[in-house]
Amino acid sequence: MKQDASLPLVYHPIYSIPFPAQHRFPMAKFQLLYQQLCQQGIATTQNCFSPSAPAPLSILQLAHCPQYIQQFCQGELDAKALREIGLPWSPLLVQRTCTAVAGTILTAELAKRYGLACHLAGGTHHAFYRHGAGFCIFNDLAVCARYLVQNGLAKQVLIIDCDVHQGDGTAAILQQDANIHTCSFHSALNYPFTKMHSDWDIEIEDDCGDSDYLAILQQHLPSILACLQPDFILYDAGSDVHQDDRLGRLKLTDQGIRQRDNYIIQLAHQHNIAIACVIGGGYDRDHAEVARRHSLLHQQANLLFNQLYR
Ligand SMILES: [Zn+2]
Repeated sequence: MKQDASLPLVYHPIYSIPFPAQHRFPMAKFQLLYQQLCQQGIATTQNCFSPSAPAPLSILQLAHCPQYIQQFCQGELDAKALREIGLPWSPLLVQRTCTAVAGTILTAELAKRYGLACHLAGGTHHAFYRHGAGFCIFNDLAVCARYLVQNGLAKQVLIIDCDVHQGDGTAAILQQDANIHTCSFHSALNYPFTKMHSDWDIEIEDDCGDSDYLAILQQHLPSILACLQPDFILYDAGSDVHQDDRLGRLKLTDQGIRQRDNYIIQLAHQHNIAIACVIGGGYDRDHAEVARRHSLLHQQANLLFNQLYR
């Protein structure tokens, strides 16, 4: 896996669309994350890639009902369906959403080639087959996992979801897939209040801190890898486990998030498993601050890429 390159990143300027300033979803965070990574020298014109087009219907259909896709894309979802998603519909939101799915697939293709790659978006794990929820419209993780298997890019995909909320949509969509496995580490008492069944659900108590959290990962992930022997990992590195997150209930510090990401990427590397990382959730009224918390993933991945993968 020796490459004369730096950590592959995926970003598109459409990820942050104009949005109501006071909205609970921090839409500006993607652009701010990109700017911060540019300032840190982690994102450059050399290593930052953009999806060339939004994911088409044929790709979205890998994990979603055609009627739901059409209704969302044409602005025909009813008020209840839109309320459950929680984002104001616009043609730009459609472009943004479908481009981000393409971005996760591109990230996975880069991970297949280089061993490790990171998206600056993705992780919309509350989207189900025929409806969206919790700021998630299409499930990039489920679409991407099926894309990898159906195109012969992976034989056994493991989705490790460390967003503070359960990956309920991912679990439901992929429940019957023999070659795709879901593992969710999430806050037991947090949204979604009706949990789905992942292949592995590890519930975490409120106020869990850095060392307990890392111990939980260490307790479960080695045996899951030994059992499945996946050749591809999709990693949702939600920053909403952070102690200052508006919607999280856990107490991880910056250092705890670094340790989490370091542990999972190193584990993938030790087992020679390609790993594609997406940012997942992260919430704060201060959008630059939430972008900074997401950037901990790219910083750690960049360090490891330079140490282990080049
Ligand atoms: Zn979340």
